[in-house]
Amino acid sequence: MIRAGALVSLSHSGGKDSQAMTILLSRIVPRQQLVAVHAPLEVVDWPATIEHIEATLPDGVPLILAPVSSGKTLLDRVEERGMWPGIHQRWCTAGHKRGPIERELRRYLKARPRFRGRLVNCLGIRRDESTARAKKTPWRKNERMSVAGREVFDWLPIFDLSTDDVFRVIRDAGQAPHWIYRHLSRCSCSFCIFSSPDDLRRAAELRPDLYQRYARIERSIGHTLSPTRRYLPELTGIPIRADSPAPCRRPRRPRLSAQREDPAPDR
Ligand code: SF4
Repeated sequence: MIRAGALVSLSHSGGKDSQAMTILLSRIVPRQQLVAVHAPLEVVDWPATIEHIEATLPDGVPLILAPVSSGKTLLDRVEERGMWPGIHQRWCTAGHKRGPIERELRRYLKARPRFRGRLVNCLGIRRDESTARAKKTPWRKNERMSVAGREVFDWLPIFDLSTDDVFRVIRDAGQAPHWIYRHLSRCSCSFCIFSSPDDLRRAAELRPDLYQRYARIERSIGHTLSPTRRYLPELTGIPIRADSPAPCRRPRRPRLSAQREDPAPDR
């Protein structure tokens, strides 16, 4: 596909895996075939994520931003639904990342007929991240996107790299990973359904106002961000400020959804 001139997209979250993948692929794929794409999640992203991606992209590789077309933030959607995303209902990833990224890649391909509808969609997923991810196939046809004259394959180029390998690739390239790795183990949404209590506590210290907003939403909808069904103040030890509304009595069970997602962290 690459030798035949396909477009090669780098799905970039700003995290270490995306960064290492970008470094490695930029050595083997002609620059004119590469494009990076990032789905910004606005207020819930760590500050300076887009700047970090821009600063570490190889020269000549464009960056496309793929926001949700509705303009609604993840927190808007949580309040509308009255529930957080869940391990098996990851509508956050599907609706705020994968969908907008695929939309932008379709547009990019359509506007550049020299690629003849061929796309290799690269994702920085690694075997080591979880048992669910270890079962993934590193190269497979993307049937959902392979319509209307397009031929699209999903590729996991760093599938076999360890966490140490990833940091080594970044270091050997003379780059630094996203600043958040100096504080947390993952570069995800500031408060993620997969965050450990330690990461949630550290995130709350780094972004106290956003933490208060998350904690207030939990109380007002009666549903916890954490799949453990423990409210943020209980997990972090950091209370909600006195001006917050009264809590509901107990966490609500998440509604079942037909949309089941990979139960692994996505960054
Ligand atoms: S980082 Fe976590 S909360 Fe954010 S979109 Fe991904 S799974 Fe959802």
